[in-house]
Amino acid sequence: MHRIIIIGGGPGGTITANHLAEHLADDIRRGDVAVELITDKPEQVYKPGFLYLAFGLESPERIRRPVRELVSPYVDVRIERVVKVDTDQRQVLVEGGKSRPFDQLVIASGTRLEPSATPGLAEAGDWFYDEKAAQKLHDKLEALEQGRIVVSVVGVPHMCPVAPLEVTFMLDQWLEQRGRRDKVELAYTYPINRTHSIASLAEWATPELQKRNVQIETFFNAESVDVERKVLQSMEGTELPFDILIAIPEHRSAAFLEESGLTEAGWVPTDRETLAVKGQDGIWALGDTTNLPVSKAGSVAHYQSAALSKNVAARAHGHGPVARYDGKTICFIEAGLDKGTFIEFNYARPPQVQPPTKMIHWAKLAYNNAYWLTAKGAL
Ligand SMILES: Cc1cc2nc3c(=O)[nH]c(=O)nc-3n(C[C@H](O)[C@H](O)[C@H](O)COP(=O)(O)OP(=O)(O)OC[C@H]3O[C@@H](n4cnc5c(N)ncnc54)[C@H](O)[C@@H]3O)c2cc1C
Repeated sequence: MHRIIIIGGGPGGTITANHLAEHLADDIRRGDVAVELITDKPEQVYKPGFLYLAFGLESPERIRRPVRELVSPYVDVRIERVVKVDTDQRQVLVEGGKSRPFDQLVIASGTRLEPSATPGLAEAGDWFYDEKAAQKLHDKLEALEQGRIVVSVVGVPHMCPVAPLEVTFMLDQWLEQRGRRDKVELAYTYPINRTHSIASLAEWATPELQKRNVQIETFFNAESVDVERKVLQSMEGTELPFDILIAIPEHRSAAFLEESGLTEAGWVPTDRETLAVKGQDGIWALGDTTNLPVSKAGSVAHYQSAALSKNVAARAHGHGPVARYDGKTICFIEAGLDKGTFIEFNYARPPQVQPPTKMIHWAKLAYNNAYWLTAKGAL
């Protein structure tokens, strides 16, 4: 019996599980292959929905589904927390002391937020990168009649590289609709010398921010938050006072990966085409946990899973890698509450920003609803 374990019940894990169930259906039916998905939470949450939760435009019930409902019946789902991967004994150790042996392992355990890495941020800051925080931020936004909101990219890389721009554009229009925009100042900070790490996106976003009267602070490496004074401080010595600080906190890969010696500078070192973990045999990674120079986006996990699952299936049949991921990424970008744009790129082709339209905004909302078909491997 050839055992394949997938760690993670997010998009990367569920889409891969469904592709493998399809590629290896005959082997699974014969009992020659077993595919197991281990995840620590019984539900998958659609994280792009957090952006809308922060504005009261989405509800928590609509953005979650039980992992078992998303995955083919050919895949065994276990709700367990992984504490270590023993690469020598080729087994996954889970909380409670049990071990799960594997022939091949797929790591799709995403990222976790680390607001405590920035002194004062957990106490005085807000964010919209998890469900509770997005709801708390919504309550604060509703209550703010006047003052100053600072949107600050603290940690890079982070999930959905375009989300800090989206939240700023949405805030502008949301405040306008409530008649508060002239009483609430907006500021946006980014750690390098432009408004985004993707050059063409920065070129497009900078005049868009200026047009909306958003104060721009580049070369702003947020270092700490003065909780008493409600001031964000940068390594460069700039201070920004705020009434609400919307931060993108530092991100880390799952703690068990470091413990297992599977990270390099915090992320899983992954071959950019085959998605094999470097220095390991029969271990693969996809999605937010890799060290690849691509966006930490669900679309990336989706496109990666197509290549990765073919390579895992080929190895189960005794062959080498047969498919390559080309860096394909698509990001929809809200340019306010009623217009959107998108970027599409890969390793060879840089992104071009399209002029925002209402149609693209509606396409993003339509995709948000249709996403669960993607998670099931149907789109
Ligand atoms: C506000 C926001 C907006 C976004 N907008 C977009 C967008 O518009 N478009 C887009 O493409 N992407 C967007 N993203 C990014 C997208 O959500 C992520 O890139 C995607 O979820 C990554 O998938 P993943 O499977 O790699 O990781 P995750 O979705 O993080 O899944 C990881 C899984 O591993 C499990 N896990 C972790 N540790 C353990 C453990 N020790 N044991 C067992 N299981 C474990 C977790 O419970 C989870 O099920 C957005 C993200 C945020 C936060």
